[in-house]
Amino acid sequence: MRVFHSDLQAGHSPDRYALGRDLMPARETPDRIDVLLAALRGAGHEIVPPRDHGIEPLRSVHTDDYLEFLGTAHARWQAVFPSGPRADWVVPLAFPNRHMNARPASVVGQAGHYLSSTTSPIGAGTWPAIMGAAHCAVDGADSLLAGAREAYALCRPPGHHAYADVGAGFCYVNNAAVAAHRLAAALGRVAILDIDVHHGNGTQGIFWRRADVLFVSVHGDPDGGYPYYAGRADETGEGPGAGFNLNLPLPLGTADAPWLQAIDTGLRAVQAHAPRALVVSLGFDAHASDASALLAVSTAAFAGAGQRIGAAGLPTLLVQEGGYAVDALGRNLLSFLDAFQAARPLDRP
Ligand SMILES: [Zn+2]
Repeated sequence: MRVFHSDLQAGHSPDRYALGRDLMPARETPDRIDVLLAALRGAGHEIVPPRDHGIEPLRSVHTDDYLEFLGTAHARWQAVFPSGPRADWVVPLAFPNRHMNARPASVVGQAGHYLSSTTSPIGAGTWPAIMGAAHCAVDGADSLLAGAREAYALCRPPGHHAYADVGAGFCYVNNAAVAAHRLAAALGRVAILDIDVHHGNGTQGIFWRRADVLFVSVHGDPDGGYPYYAGRADETGEGPGAGFNLNLPLPLGTADAPWLQAIDTGLRAVQAHAPRALVVSLGFDAHASDASALLAVSTAAFAGAGQRIGAAGLPTLLVQEGGYAVDALGRNLLSFLDAFQAARPLDRP
């Protein structure tokens, strides 16, 4: 398995998600990737840095004003807060809502306009990390286009909560969407299967009106956790995209068998779409020990998921999303990958 990873990704290292009394220690931290890299190296997988593709591939699914904000917010913020507790990280102080939603000119107002949660702070190293992660997804897509049957973009920060013009929930640029768009532009039909425990609301939003990219998400009930405002089964796409969005929310605490059944259901929809490539938004936060506490699947269940996804027989790009039980991440990844590769015997010499 060729794995793409950029050292720039570690430059995004938040230590907290909000200011004031509700301080929440950062959960999406560089040690997640350190653990995954160590597991991959131990298993003999090839890890390569991505090429620098510039900003152009990101513009395929994100608006220019949003990308401009992401790239300049930290410097602009420091001009407003040169010192003090707010200085190091762009964290929204206020948010637009149903009654007040004009786009403001100030970076402080724009922080809430472009970041819809306090859990996507922007520090000095965030933009380079975002670019590094996105380029992993681009190179992963390009490797499929060059004939590889599989690749793994070890992205961080993750991406699936990022809409075309809004970041949130640890996410800024939607790496899986960048890759899926690139594949669809070259191949036509593509499918995305999102098995992160949280609904991939940003990915859903980006492809909401598109028929070429099917989006399928298996996740915990959004009434029980993030992203709260999307992820219900009755969200099926609109306009040309009507019928090309499938949400499979599961009751809180769901364990292995129903989770794997939902993945089977999702894969049947994927096969019915007859995609030329599959992008998997691969999160490990469905694990029983994850602080997300939405679902409760075992390490063995990740092998079940890997086996099913591998057996689908499609050119497949794995894109890393969440997973915060650092002690279990390495085992969960190798459990998934070993079964995924074993289910694809025709791909091996
Ligand atoms: Zn997640």
